[in-house]
Amino acid sequence: MNTPDHLQGHLPADHRLSPRWQFRHLPLIGRMLADYPAQDLWQTDFARLPRALARQRQRARVFTEQHLLPAADELDLAPHLPAGECHPTARRILSEAGKQGWLSYFLPAPLGKMPWGTVVHAPIWQSCLIVEEFSRGCGGLMLLLSAHHLGAMPLILSGHVHHILKLLAPVYRSCERGDPHLIAFAITEPAAGSDVEDGHGAQTYHPGVVATPTHGGYLLNGRKCFISGGDLAKTATVFAALQGEGMESWTCFYVDCSDPGYRVARTELKMGMRASGAAEIELSNVFVPTDRIIGGLRNGWVLNRATLNASRIPVASMGVGFARAATETAVEFARHYKVGGKALIHYQDVQLHLATMVAETRALRALVWQEARLAWKPRQLHASLCKFHATDRAQRVCEMAMDLLADHGARHENRIEKIFRDVRLTRIFEGTNQINRLSLIEDWQPQLLDPDHPAGV
Ligand SMILES: Cc1cc2nc3c(=O)[nH]c(=O)nc-3n(C[C@H](O)[C@H](O)[C@H](O)COP(=O)(O)OP(=O)(O)OC[C@H]3O[C@@H](n4cnc5c(N)ncnc54)[C@H](O)[C@@H]3O)c2cc1C
Repeated sequence: MNTPDHLQGHLPADHRLSPRWQFRHLPLIGRMLADYPAQDLWQTDFARLPRALARQRQRARVFTEQHLLPAADELDLAPHLPAGECHPTARRILSEAGKQGWLSYFLPAPLGKMPWGTVVHAPIWQSCLIVEEFSRGCGGLMLLLSAHHLGAMPLILSGHVHHILKLLAPVYRSCERGDPHLIAFAITEPAAGSDVEDGHGAQTYHPGVVATPTHGGYLLNGRKCFISGGDLAKTATVFAALQGEGMESWTCFYVDCSDPGYRVARTELKMGMRASGAAEIELSNVFVPTDRIIGGLRNGWVLNRATLNASRIPVASMGVGFARAATETAVEFARHYKVGGKALIHYQDVQLHLATMVAETRALRALVWQEARLAWKPRQLHASLCKFHATDRAQRVCEMAMDLLADHGARHENRIEKIFRDVRLTRIFEGTNQINRLSLIEDWQPQLLDPDHPAGV
């Protein structure tokens, strides 16, 4: 079969007027200044990363291709398991992920598996690179692996070395032995999702999970819902109000999920990310000793805020991963699917469509990397902006892929419908995108109200 040497509306690549032909025929110094290698687009961004981060990105890509992509369909289509049961394939992947360090990369050796070469870069940047790769492979498995870091974040951000050494380091060691110890992050309650993420709602909300003082610690009672990985977690960072007080008393408790009174009531049958369970947790007189209070009494709200600021940029990079998966799928489809005797890619309106998808995906990655690179102490405004914009736009890219694939997009085997279901959830969790827009304004408020402050953006 003859392969055409150019696309409709374009010159062949070796034509004298095509972009790179000219550069290749410049004198030596001109070539050094203007010519460039014909790398694929992923490689061009790879080359822009510091070497240690690029290595992590490559490792994450290999792990995704070896373990996540091959299992994505099986776990997406598997019957809804009873609460607490782990699909054998998910168990195998968790174990392998633990051994490779994907569950312990927020601390360097000997405490965790963060490569020493990356410690000079904001850990959130590294997390974004990994999360993008995992999302490209499977949203559900990505969430299964990532929610654990969300659960661990209060332990790290509280800054208590004692807690890091005594509580987190053993978790990391267990993961690295191949015996995954997942930590869940539990803030959402049946009557409050936004109210536990947004200060305006929180000021009037009466928390449903309450901690009552008892000898040597506290007893927790109430329900948390939609807790990612809460069905499999061995421990959880659970946020509760002190008895008789409001949200100002919110405190983070490190709960052992095997303790009496902790029960996984059910897991949701949700539209996407099905490899990760969203659990409803029932707490009935669960005893938590005083030395498992993270960050101090009444510091839960601030720890929650800091955790969300740290995690919303990686959530934005989930959007990048999904947009990338959708774009790659659309490109493959356009190269192979024929209409009117020729592959779709030869139609110029399809080329315009794909160009927009590539540009959107890369613009989102640029936004995420720019914020992540500086995110040693992520600011609410930047984290929320990144989260809502990247996930909103990513959904648009996935929709463009659906437009291109048409009825083929609606069929499961073509990947897009799963990506479409998965990406939608990123606009809900870690605060709906509406709440994240309000978070941006909340953080910006002092300048907005100051008549002498210039309105520069
Ligand atoms: C897949 C998935 C995984 C999750 N994982 C976790 C987890 O691991 N841990 C955890 O604790 N939670 C988790 N959640 C819960 C998630 O964080 C909440 O669903 C989210 O914060 C939204 O809360 P809600 O669903 O209760 O919506 P609600 O708060 O009930 O909001 C309903 C609507 O009201 C709007 N709204 C609310 N307040 C305002 C306001 N002040 N102004 C304007 N509009 C407003 C919202 O934007 C939304 O449109 C998860 C959710 C999903 C879908």
